[in-house]
Order: sequence, then C-alpha cells, then structure tokens
Amino acid sequence: MRAVKPTLQYDYTIIGGGIFGCYAALHLAARGARVALIEKEAELFQKASIVNQARLHSGYHYPRSLATAAMSDEHKARFTEEHRDFVNFSFEKYYAIERYTSFTDAQQFERFCAYLGIRCERLDDHPLFNYDRLEALYLTEEYSFDPLLLGKYYKERVFSNAQIRVNAGCRVEKATAQGAQWQMLLSNGTCIESPVVINATYAASSAVNRLFGVPELALTHEISEIAFLASPRFAGKGLTVMDGPFGSIMPYGLTGWLSLSSVAYTHHKISYENLPHFDCMTPEDLACRPEAPGICSSCPRRPASNAGKMLAQMQQYFAPSVQFEYLHSFFTIKSKLKASYIDDGRPTEISLLHTTPRFYCLFAGKINSIYEVEKII
Ligand SMILES: Cc1cc2nc3c(=O)[nH]c(=O)nc-3n(C[C@H](O)[C@H](O)[C@H](O)COP(=O)(O)OP(=O)(O)OC[C@H]3O[C@@H](n4cnc5c(N)ncnc54)[C@H](O)[C@@H]3O)c2cc1C
Repeated sequence: MRAVKPTLQYDYTIIGGGIFGCYAALHLAARGARVALIEKEAELFQKASIVNQARLHSGYHYPRSLATAAMSDEHKARFTEEHRDFVNFSFEKYYAIERYTSFTDAQQFERFCAYLGIRCERLDDHPLFNYDRLEALYLTEEYSFDPLLLGKYYKERVFSNAQIRVNAGCRVEKATAQGAQWQMLLSNGTCIESPVVINATYAASSAVNRLFGVPELALTHEISEIAFLASPRFAGKGLTVMDGPFGSIMPYGLTGWLSLSSVAYTHHKISYENLPHFDCMTPEDLACRPEAPGICSSCPRRPASNAGKMLAQMQQYFAPSVQFEYLHSFFTIKSKLKASYIDDGRPTEISLLHTTPRFYCLFAGKINSIYEVEKII
C-alpha cells in the first residue's frame, strides 16, 4: 500500500516557470512568502520566454495605435536598468516604411514618433538598403534583451531561493476550493495547499483556468517560428519594415545571432479556440495536448521552417552586398487576447477570477511588463 504523503502548505502557488512565473515567485519570496512554483516541463524557460524577438519595445512597432505604443514604454526604464547585463544597447536600429504595401506612410510615422518623443532620424541615402522597395528609412533607438541570459539568471535565482520550492516536470492534476484554500494534487503525487494561486502559463492560461473552474480567457494561438541568421555586413544592426507586411532582422540580445521574423511567414498555424488545438497534436503524445501544450522547438512534428521565405521577403529591402546565412530556428506557441485583434496591442492582463480562495490569471503581453504583478499582489 502506498504511504499517503502529507499535504504541503504554501502561501502562494505559481503555475508556469517562464519569466512571469519566476519573477512573481521571486517578488513574493522577497516579501517572506513561501512559494510553490510548478512547471510542466523538466526545465524552466522553454517556451515564449526564450522564443521571441527579444525586442525591448520603445513604441515604434505600433504606428497605428498611439495608446499601445505609449503603453509599451511603461516599465522599460526599470526593466532595462535591472537587467542591463542582459541587454544589447549598442546596435544600430533602423525602421523603414515599405514602399508599396504599407498601412502607414512616412508622414504619419514621423508625426507619430514626434508625438511619442522617440528618436526618428530620416536617412535618404544608405549603402546597405534598397530604396526601390522602401519609401523611407529611419535611424531609431531600440534595444534587445538576451532571452538566454535572462533565462539563466532567473533559473539561478529561483533555484537558490530557500523560500521557493520548484516542482519541475509536474502539473496540477486536480484542484478544489476548500474554504480559504486551494487543494491541489500534483502529477508527482504530492498534495499541496495554498490560499492564492497564480496562473502564469501563457499559452495554457485557459486550460489551467478550466482546471480550477474559473472563467477562461478568449485567446488565439499561433505556432510561431523565429529564425536565426548570421551576416558579416549586417552584424550589430537591425531593420524592421512596416506596416502590414511587417518583417524584422535584429540582434537577439548578446548572442551574436540575428533573429528573423515576418508577419506573413513566422506564424505557421493558427488556433481560434481558447485552448490551443493544432493538427500536429496527436492523442498518443501526452506531452503536448490542448490542455497542456508542449515544447515546439524540440518536437519532431513541428512545421517545416519558413526561414527561406522570410529571408526572401526581407532580402529585397537590402542592397545586394548584404547577404545572410541561416543558422537554425526556434518554435513556440504565441498566444494573443482576442480583444487585441483591433489595435494589435499586447497588454499584460492580470485578472482576479476567484476571491476565496484567490485565483489570479496573469496573461503576459511583453517581457518588460513582469512588474505588473507588483500592482496586484
Ligand atoms: C514569437 C514571439 C515573439 C515575441 N516577441 C516579443 C518581443 O520582441 N518583445 C517582448 O517583450 N515580448 C515578445 N513576445 C512576448 C513574450 O515572449 C511573452 O509575453 C512572455 O515570454 C510570456 O512569458 P510567460 O512566462 O508568461 O510565458 P512562457 O515563457 O511561455 O512560460 C509559461 C510556462 O508555463 C508552463 N506551463 C504551461 N502549462 C502548464 C501547466 N499546466 N502546469 C505547469 N506549467 C505549465 C510552460 O511550460 C511554460 O514554461 C513574443 C512572444 C512570441 C511567442
């Protein structure tokens, strides 16, 4: 007969070991709380927190929404200051307006940057770019954080904090509200109890909400690819072409790689349901299901790379002397609030979905909004 394990008590249970779950755990632990951090995968930081474009947004990216652009600046100064060892400050960042198919134009973009007070220096001649395809080119100021170094930093801090108990390779299988406590049975057989649960699982947000019997978020999900390149002529530089056929090549933090993405080809498959449903999920693969999506980068059924198509699209904005070498790609699920469809915004939303015991769902829009958790807890 199996011995019954005692129920472990924590002040907070955080589900999801990406940057948002790790930051929330550290923030609470620093205030004396005992925290259980539960991560489905064997390691922390395997999904959106390392598979992203690493752009520390300054607002340029949202020429059609002043509100979104202004919001993207919130927390940027603090994030940059507190993570300065993991930020690439020293690259030349160009934004350009596509000549034929853009939803924005040079005049509108200049007005928009002036309103936000962000650098936008028009360059009417530059040897690296092809002006036949660009209406206007601007030297701007935007930084790139290093997701791999950030991951290492947060993992070390979380694992060395005596207040935080990490349960990796583990999920909540059953959750019930008992008075002021959530009682949870984990997949490793452990029973835990705490008065507050924070769901920081991003693509799995609605699945975890469903497990706890609280309202789901209205989400869409896309299997997304970030490709990585090398280029002797374009090393240490970045170009984002707008707007509509968005495309970017820019440093991926301090790795020395250039990340490549394009609106047309980065997103391979889309799911309009609150839980991510994709045809590459099979009933036999229990590690990746709509209720618990897996790690796309290491999945043998991940989509074939679109790096060639993305590069062909972007190459036309460069002079022939600028060439790129494809290195490899990362894949992950990108999730968005359905409400963001209108202005393409990426808010970080924290909703209190159950009061006694408390249940928060923390849905992350951008990396530098990790501090949002401090507003509510
Ligand atoms: C393609 C792409 C490009 C992006 N570009 C940028 C950018 O340039 N700049 C920017 O600021 N932001 C960008 N973002 C957004 C940013 O990456 C995310 O907002 C952020 O990483 C989300 O962090 P997270 O910790 O919430 O999610 P994640 O890092 O995905 O972490 C969630 C964790 O929860 C775990 N989990 C899931 N289900 C369970 C479960 N049932 N039990 C336990 N654990 C579970 C997962 O395994 C995962 O480790 C981009 C995102 C993508 C996908």
